[in-house]
Amino acid sequence: MNLPAATPAISPDWDKIRADFPLLERQVNGKPLVYFDSANTGQKPASVIEAVDGFYRRHNANVSRAVHTLGSEATEAYEESRRKLARFLNVGADELVLCSGTTFAINLVAYSWALPKLEAGDTILVSRMEHHANIVPWQLVAQRTGATIKVAEIREDGTLDLDALYRAMTPDVKLLAVAHVSNVLGTVNPVREICREARRRGIVSVVDGSQAAPHRKVDVQSIGCDFYAITGHKMCGPTGTGALWAKKEHLQAMPPFIGGGEMIKEVSFDGTVFNDPPHKFEAGTPNIAGFIGLGAAVDYLETLGMAHVEARETELLAHLTEELDKVEGLRIFGHAPEKAAVVSFLVEGAHAHDLATLLDLEGVAVRSGQHCAHPLLQFYGVAATLRASLAFYNTHEEIERFAAALQKARKLLA
Ligand code: PLP
Repeated sequence: MNLPAATPAISPDWDKIRADFPLLERQVNGKPLVYFDSANTGQKPASVIEAVDGFYRRHNANVSRAVHTLGSEATEAYEESRRKLARFLNVGADELVLCSGTTFAINLVAYSWALPKLEAGDTILVSRMEHHANIVPWQLVAQRTGATIKVAEIREDGTLDLDALYRAMTPDVKLLAVAHVSNVLGTVNPVREICREARRRGIVSVVDGSQAAPHRKVDVQSIGCDFYAITGHKMCGPTGTGALWAKKEHLQAMPPFIGGGEMIKEVSFDGTVFNDPPHKFEAGTPNIAGFIGLGAAVDYLETLGMAHVEARETELLAHLTEELDKVEGLRIFGHAPEKAAVVSFLVEGAHAHDLATLLDLEGVAVRSGQHCAHPLLQFYGVAATLRASLAFYNTHEEIERFAAALQKARKLLA
């Protein structure tokens, strides 16, 4: 296995880093853009854009099929991206299924692992703070198998109630689905401890790492889960890229989810011999250029050093929270002691969408709505929130511009 990259000793010059992102130079509605929607999708550095462009200009060919030079170059570059991503997550490349993102990754577990295994009487334990991508596939499995969904509740501060979670791990629970980091609250869940408790009880764990991998060092081996899903577009990579890491024993035992080219060794009308994992789960032509871009994104993040990224975002989060606390009538959802740079909030008397629209007029991009997490918003009894989500490329000056725009918008709506 490749060794994970060491964190560079010196923290990057963040002003220079920002200049790597061409889109951040944009004006929106005549104002310099303040992009606070990175939990939705991240912006891309020039090196990623160039890697995608370079692939189409110089190497474009299909993978794992042609023996000609372009075909070999494309295959090698694609497999190199898999190796880079595996090293980034500290897993083996042969355990990493490349796919279109977390949604596909979790559905792969649902259809290939859970559907054949679960039956009436079994329970799937899902945390209250999950994104719909880590709820709906389990509901579909439950409908088809007769299994039941049980909810692991949260506390008012947005942390998981761990005592309740462990009590809920009864013998009928076969699978646990939990986010590493909440896309609404920013809560960082203690997934290592949670997966250890699940393992002790023979429960298979699925961790949604969508909001973790872009913002902190993720060592999947040390988490000790059974499955870990990531999505590339939130970690500086292209859309339509992502991966599912799974324990080898699962990958070997699981039947394929989708059939077609690439995932076979031999096909006849008497039967088909499937390829070895991870290729067994990668039918059809993949998003080759996207994965070349994701490889470049991993290179980029490793050059920054994930420990530096996390420290930078923690500092930005503290500033953002301080500014939000000054706004009259503002309520923040989620006060976990360990929190990523995602802040959901509401301002008394102002609808989330109205505020987001007024902020957009000031060049500020935040998300408003339910953030694909209806059950979580139901817990707080609200129909929508605003969400400001940061990345290392944001600046303290942007936080001040955002705060001023928010004060102005609040006054207009008051
Ligand atoms: N899980 C979480 C926590 C997310 O934030 C998201 C995206 O917003 C997803 C899953 C779904 O990711 P994708 O749409 O890239 O598959």
